[in-house]
Amino acid sequence: MARAWLSLGANLGDAPANLAEAVRRIGEADGVAVVAQSGMITTKPWGKTDQPDFLNLALEINTALEPLPLLDALQAIEAVMGRERLEHWGPRVIDIDIVAYERLEMDTARLTLPHRYAHERDFVLDPLREIAPAVTEWLTSRRR
Ligand code: ATP
Ligand code: CA
Ligand code: CA
Repeated sequence: MARAWLSLGANLGDAPANLAEAVRRIGEADGVAVVAQSGMITTKPWGKTDQPDFLNLALEINTALEPLPLLDALQAIEAVMGRERLEHWGPRVIDIDIVAYERLEMDTARLTLPHRYAHERDFVLDPLREIAPAVTEWLTSRRR
């Protein structure tokens, strides 16, 4: 079993309901158990600012899945919830990113760990700090 931390965001439709549904689906996924959940926070859009505010939360999970199968499982949940990749950093019903997987460092075409921008995004760090202060500290202090 490995420990991993996820960042969830939504800014289309019923954002609180979307986050709740995603958390439920993550917990029901094979080989994944939710260990801790942060509160939800409202945040201003990052990168592309002419869109609705986001609702964000962080999850700590236990998983039997290796990183890429975990990404597959999370992307399947995004897909079933109607996520459409229209524009980069654009509005979305749900976004599920892997912030960190243990203290693993990898950089491949499909997956960068820890997440490439997590250390500079308050909407990732603030909820994560609630449930995993040590991981948050690791993200912000590691050399890039
Ligand atoms: P950002 O990655 O800057 O938060 P985004 O979440 O809007 O942007 P997406 O369109 O959801 O970007 O994802 C693009 C690709 O990023 C995914 O298909 C996935 O292969 C890749 N990716 C790389 N590292 C990660 C990660 N740590 N977690 C989730 N996806 C990742
Ligand atoms: Ca993202
Ligand atoms: Ca994403």
